[in-house]
Amino acid sequence: MISNFHTHTTFCDGAGTAEQMVVSAIEKGFDVLGFSSHSDMVKDLDAYKAEIRRLAAKYEGKIRILCGIEAEYDTGFKRGDFDYVIGSTHYITAPDGGRFAFDATHDGLLNGVRDHFGGDFVAFLHAYFAQEREMVEKYDCDVIGHLDLVRKFNTKFPYFDESADWYREELVKTADVVAASGRLVEVNTGAISRGWMDDAYPSAEFRALLRERGVKFILSSDSHAPDTLDCAFDRFSAAESYVTLA
Ligand SMILES: [Zn+2]
Ligand SMILES: [Zn+2]
Repeated sequence: MISNFHTHTTFCDGAGTAEQMVVSAIEKGFDVLGFSSHSDMVKDLDAYKAEIRRLAAKYEGKIRILCGIEAEYDTGFKRGDFDYVIGSTHYITAPDGGRFAFDATHDGLLNGVRDHFGGDFVAFLHAYFAQEREMVEKYDCDVIGHLDLVRKFNTKFPYFDESADWYREELVKTADVVAASGRLVEVNTGAISRGWMDDAYPSAEFRALLRERGVKFILSSDSHAPDTLDCAFDRFSAAESYVTLA
């Protein structure tokens, strides 16, 4: 079964309309397409839901369509009647109370770590994983979105050593918490389509730690445009035994 549950549109920061994404998914032979707008970017959630339901009815028999949400967990967004919730962390809250987006731009990351962590990237990374674990333990979501999103800029603008012992310890601790939660983890190819790195979230090492603990995965493209709905799926489709939300 071909599916994607992490899909953005012009309702948030995507380039294609929801209908353009559906048409592309049908052309690509998808069985299921799930939408997951950013919870804090959609101006009118009712209009978003209504449009996805309209498309589900219009294309019934050709493709199954689900209406999910990519929730900014630290805003306390409630699941409501969405078909599923992807829990994501795009903002970090520092010990000084400052909250900043660390994945929007490289400058945003640099400025945030300078202003709120005294330039200490290791302290920032420890805070990131602590926050990620808090989300996994406490937030009501079905899927953990891009679990190691902090790697986004680390290929083009390296700022930490992914083979360091302290980093691996964070991965192990986080994998333990994810396994205990029973939640699904997405293998997210979004950084490949957008040219940030030639790898998925989580890293192969992190995926192995999760797999050893019995964590189940879904494959997602985090697509922001019709042509990237299945980006690198051929590379990653055989990497895990994926489950589905539909
Ligand atoms: Zn995201
Ligand atoms: Zn996303």
